[in-house]
Amino acid sequence: MNGTIENDLQLTEEKKEHQRIILSSQDHSILEKDIESEALKVLYRLRDAGYSGYLVGGGVRDLYLGNKPKDFDISTNARPGQLRKLFRNSRTIGRRFRLVQVFFRGNKIIEVSTLRSQSEFDSNEPDKEVLPANNTFGTLEEDAFRRDLTINSLFYEIENKTIIDYVGGVQDLNDGIIRIVGEPEQRIIRDPVRMLRAIRHAARNGFTIEEKTLEAIRKHVNKLDLCPTSRIRDELLKDLRGGTSKAWTELAMQTGVFSTLFPFYDELFQDEAEGETVQRELLAMLTALDNIYGQSKGKGRVVFEDAMLFAILLFPWALRRFDLLNQELKGPGYHRLSKAIRTELDHIFARRLNIKRVIKDKITTLFVHMSSLQKNCKNGNWPAWLRKKSYFPDCSRFYALYKEAVAGEAVTDLKQFIEEIPKAEKKEKLAVPAGTKSTAPEKNRRRGGQGNNPAFSSDKCGVFGLLKG
Ligand code: ATP
Ligand code: MG
Repeated sequence: MNGTIENDLQLTEEKKEHQRIILSSQDHSILEKDIESEALKVLYRLRDAGYSGYLVGGGVRDLYLGNKPKDFDISTNARPGQLRKLFRNSRTIGRRFRLVQVFFRGNKIIEVSTLRSQSEFDSNEPDKEVLPANNTFGTLEEDAFRRDLTINSLFYEIENKTIIDYVGGVQDLNDGIIRIVGEPEQRIIRDPVRMLRAIRHAARNGFTIEEKTLEAIRKHVNKLDLCPTSRIRDELLKDLRGGTSKAWTELAMQTGVFSTLFPFYDELFQDEAEGETVQRELLAMLTALDNIYGQSKGKGRVVFEDAMLFAILLFPWALRRFDLLNQELKGPGYHRLSKAIRTELDHIFARRLNIKRVIKDKITTLFVHMSSLQKNCKNGNWPAWLRKKSYFPDCSRFYALYKEAVAGEAVTDLKQFIEEIPKAEKKEKLAVPAGTKSTAPEKNRRRGGQGNNPAFSSDKCGVFGLLKG
């Protein structure tokens, strides 16, 4: 790596350890063709309007590693109001920090944020819902230092095709290191969810968590209990869905994260006779889950709902707690078991993670029918009366994962787990969450938009989502 190194005189104490590194296009392998066209349109539009624009965060990280980014985020020195004027089909979201979403055809949203001096989770005034905008805008360097991990703090600019690194993120990407930006303890105390993010990216990329970061995680792991439950739940679901849930769980176990989130497993894991078996079973369930995500690539979308993912995570515990495979489910026995599972789920899991009742009920359904699926299975087939039940499709999927995990019977019928992405969705569906209000100007809404959806230009020469130059 032959990056140009420049001293930056304005670094604060904490930041002095690093010098700004600029990697020229010869020093990295990111090519413009790998960047989504919509993100490029936004970047060029910003440039043409006289603003700076950078690809940031996970997009740069993934491109540098040769992976396909999930999304492309952009940072700019343009303020939210200026962005709204520049991108006609956009809206502003976020209460504490305003972010502009630019809408494109094909369900595509590019999020553009103004460079900030502070993460929304690092605020000194955590109780204030809306921070005064002027206090939070910042320089490129400040924006790098407010981010979570060094590998997530890189900028890519299109003018000279350089990567700009203030925090040693390029070196960490080269070395396979996960390091929290700044002082790990302080950054974790400010936002404990960063612990989950560190583990996620270590698991996803097979990276090693750097020592100071690891120590800080071990020391402050209990602070996860202070986070909003819905944030923890959403982060957890991302990890269960990512295709590397087994690696995530192993790291979570090593760091104390698992025990903090799921203390009901402690006793089972520590059991002399069974502890190892329970752990092995849990990791095997997650491996079966990861296999489905791995095999779905390029084929479609995995159908698992949140309930299925949570059920996989909870199964080894539930199996023992309720003796799930040896139940006689007739009459009141069925209701008694359902009620017992539901009550206990509430107690140990659902309330802690703010899980909706409907999801809790679905998890219960998956557990309660396990014995029936097991008992009635003849050569991998079930009688017609069972196949007709409304719960059968989900329960048989769950059972197939269980069989792969505990009996090594690999899932053969992959189709039951993967659905094709509907053509309509591939084409032109607009990605505006239900119930949200578009801020697209009235004029545009009338021209193309419907109801709460943002409108699109019907002008043949216009670029979707962008004003014509
Ligand atoms: P993914 O591939 O899962 O989307 P990502 O790194 O892009 O990974 P996002 O949740 O999309 O993750 O966040 C975008 C960027 O915002 C991150 O790369 C990071 O720079 C910053 N970020 C996210 N969460 C935090 C946080 N809690 N504290 C500081 N910065 C954060
Ligand atoms: Mg992202």
